[in-house]
Amino acid sequence: MHHNSGGDHLHLSAYCRRWTDWVLTTDKRQRIRLAMAGLAALLMVCCLLVMNAVAAAGLANAAHVRVWTVCSVIGLILVYVAIRSGWSRRFKDPSLTLAQILYSIACCAVAFVIAGPARGVTLPILAIILMFGIFGLTTRQMLGILLYGLVVFGVASGVVALRDEPGYPPVVAGAYVGMVVVVLLSSTFLTTRVQSTREHLRRQKSELARALEQIRELATHDDLTGLLNRRAMFERMQLEQRRSLRTGHPLLVAQLDIDHFKVVNDTHGHGKGDLVLRAFADTVRHSVRDTDVLARWGGEEFVLMLCDTPAEEALALLERVRLAVQAMRVPLPQGGDPIAITVSIGLARHPPADTLAHTLERADQALYAAKAQGRNRVVLEPGLA
Ligand code: GH3
Ligand code: MG
Ligand code: MG
Repeated sequence: MHHNSGGDHLHLSAYCRRWTDWVLTTDKRQRIRLAMAGLAALLMVCCLLVMNAVAAAGLANAAHVRVWTVCSVIGLILVYVAIRSGWSRRFKDPSLTLAQILYSIACCAVAFVIAGPARGVTLPILAIILMFGIFGLTTRQMLGILLYGLVVFGVASGVVALRDEPGYPPVVAGAYVGMVVVVLLSSTFLTTRVQSTREHLRRQKSELARALEQIRELATHDDLTGLLNRRAMFERMQLEQRRSLRTGHPLLVAQLDIDHFKVVNDTHGHGKGDLVLRAFADTVRHSVRDTDVLARWGGEEFVLMLCDTPAEEALALLERVRLAVQAMRVPLPQGGDPIAITVSIGLARHPPADTLAHTLERADQALYAAKAQGRNRVVLEPGLA
């Protein structure tokens, strides 16, 4: 039954996944926390094995090692439960890094006392415990750990010295104490380095995000008027086209062109012309609804997209725009008569199945008709309303 073994295999992997989902949860952050705690637990289990081997060899007091083992395992279980249950989420660091390190260092110091001639193994363990802190703790917390470690291992060394174990030369005792100090000091130093690198990366990341935001704004908006530019507008129109295809709601596209704008430039200069373009954009923007999309199509030509609007309503709205532009006055800084302009508008309907380019072309033809009929007017394409 070959086909069955594949099924069993699938079943097994699904079972494994369900099991790991239960142990590590499906929450991404929780998984990382629990995986880190699991790594620490693995380390602890190695220590437990070494300590029990040392006791089995008769080098350490078996009863002491037993008590130590039980305390260490209880600590591991408490950490797992605290994180897995979500209880630790109430803290700033739900990974409980600081608590885990404090407890591990205490366990390590006790092991240092009870491991007899094998106590040297606790030094690399101490170094690894501190490594967890290098990535998870602030410099201030690490300084606290430094002091705590010095005190705890100071006491441990004192206890060992008082016991006066046979065959434990003072030079070795001194070397161990020295190494503990070295390990603690260097991990504190490394923490400051890692933390400043992280700070640097954080700053860079936020600067990049800001720059990206600026670039996005530049890529989609026109500098002078702040309106959408041609490319962004075309994308918006394609989006609305897909939507109207789905909903069946009509889409209307208007082309707006300022009348005799060349005269404005020729009379007042290009700079004043720019001011007029800006004022025009503001006026139109305030005369349309929030749902209408206005873009600078190029030069003194603009495109307005009206979604979900019947033709009569659109005509009334565009009349409002035309009158608002006609009433607009752009004051000249040096006094004199303010600049007045008018606008011609052509409107076309976008049939869902047609291309946008074609609709824009028909709106342009309506605009051309508006110009031909004497400007300052709204013209609908033939057949619209
Ligand atoms: P019509 O009523 O037929 O539209 O006449 P018009 O003068 O507005 O038409 P035309 O298209 O010939 O002229 C448009 C002018 O707009 C020419 C160009 O110098 C000016 N223009 C285009 N872009 C800008 C701009 O960014 N700033 C300024 N100040 N002028 C611009
Ligand atoms: Mg013009
Ligand atoms: Mg023009």
